Amino acid sequence: MEYDIVIVGAGAVGVFASYEFTKLNTNAKILLIDKGLDIEDRLSHYDKNNKKNSRVDIMHGFGGAGALSDGKYNITTNFGGDLHKTIGKEEALTLMEYVDEVLCNFDEKKDLKLFSTGDCDLKTIALRHNLHLLDAKVRHFGTDRNIEILKKIRKYIDKKIDTKFSCTVEDITVLDDKFILQTSTNEQIVAKDVILAGGRSGSKWISKLCTKLDIPFFSNKVDIGVRVELPAEIFKHITDEVYESKLVYQTKQYNDLVRTFCMNPYGQVVMEKSDDLITVNGHSFTDKKLHSENTNFALLVSNTFTEPFKNSNEYGESIARLSNMLGGNVLVQRFGDLVKGRRSSERRMQKCFTRPTLNATAGDLSLVLPKRQLDNIIEMIFALDKIAPGTANEDTLLYGVEVKFYNSKVEVDENLETKIKGLFAAGDGSGITHSLSQASACGVKVARILNEKYNR
Ligand SMILES: Cc1cc2nc3c(=O)[nH]c(=O)nc-3n(C[C@H](O)[C@H](O)[C@H](O)COP(=O)(O)OP(=O)(O)OC[C@H]3O[C@@H](n4cnc5c(N)ncnc54)[C@H](O)[C@@H]3O)c2cc1C
Repeated sequence: MEYDIVIVGAGAVGVFASYEFTKLNTNAKILLIDKGLDIEDRLSHYDKNNKKNSRVDIMHGFGGAGALSDGKYNITTNFGGDLHKTIGKEEALTLMEYVDEVLCNFDEKKDLKLFSTGDCDLKTIALRHNLHLLDAKVRHFGTDRNIEILKKIRKYIDKKIDTKFSCTVEDITVLDDKFILQTSTNEQIVAKDVILAGGRSGSKWISKLCTKLDIPFFSNKVDIGVRVELPAEIFKHITDEVYESKLVYQTKQYNDLVRTFCMNPYGQVVMEKSDDLITVNGHSFTDKKLHSENTNFALLVSNTFTEPFKNSNEYGESIARLSNMLGGNVLVQRFGDLVKGRRSSERRMQKCFTRPTLNATAGDLSLVLPKRQLDNIIEMIFALDKIAPGTANEDTLLYGVEVKFYNSKVEVDENLETKIKGLFAAGDGSGITHSLSQASACGVKVARILNEKYNR
């Protein structure tokens, strides 16, 4: 099999690169490969009313990790990755705006609001309590509409892009000015240009490949914390105004930064299964019929290791494993119990006024999270209580652990090309991004660069 361009990974990068190639009618033979299933096949296991029992693979297949996500597209360079450091702030923001425009064009109803933190009162109120609100614009498509949009993009690219699903690229060899891709289906695919877009799930494979091809890459951070769930009324004044608030707080005890992440008004807390690890996450629907009575968000503390231990992800994995060992899967604890130093038993959970949206094991997070992270999280909850009274209620639920792994940062130039000509590394797999908007923007960027080469 011979192609001009092969895209490895059909996540946000792969989807948006394919979209842009199709739109520009790039004069090249293009293949999109993913180890997971095509979108319709992924969805055949998806039960949107009862997601916790579904057998759906949330990390792999068309749409990647974003397909069944909350579909929250943040247009910002303040979080969600460092794309601006590679391609410049202006271009990064322009590309993210473009991604938003494309998504809105595919959205049937076109009625979703673009929330913005610009000039909102919350910023001033938060500052009075040492909480810093990061500037961003956000459009929330919700899991339901996000899926519909992806289905339409899938159809759109079909006329231009060849696809191969349930197929893992196991190795890539450079031969003269071509690449030989060895697949799990025992095929050899020859390509002139390759876009590595393996996302977080392709992290270890990409690092291994970089080592083999002598492409420099650098250790990244890992974020560890909990998912907080509380009655939606407590954060309503905030979520109604900005939808998602990224608040950063410096703790007095350790001077560490703790931040809120991935806020889901009226959402669900869900388990995230990746390889042999179970962690916690959250999402919400736009369809009000599928709303819960709670809001959930993560509280995260970043950890970076340098010497002698460098592998930040391994540290995160160990903590997640400890939580899985004690709880069988995800642990849940009432904030009141955590502060009093006692386990949340089944009996205490039954008396809890906040009804959990995830069926997790009642337990004790202090046996899992290191003291420093736990102290940081508790201090942050009391800080949030000042702008959203009720956050530090006894019945606020904490699920653990939430871990955000970041891939090693692959050395690329301003075109996202590695030192090997024709080999691009983009999106979460490159360690440069960790959000839908920025990863999608990477896809558009690389497609435009390659389009110039083939449509010259
Ligand atoms: C539950 C969940 C909710 C999220 N919610 C949000 C949100 O609301 N907003 C937001 O901004 N971000 C969110 N994120 C993060 C977001 O999904 C990612 O930042 C984004 O998907 C990254 O896109 P990507 O293309 O780089 O990688 P991915 O989307 O991870 O796609 C990578 C693809 O590559 C494939 N692959 C990997 N290795 C190989 C290989 N060797 N051969 C073939 N295929 C391979 C995988 O199967 C996968 O489909 C969420 C993530 C999760 C897990």
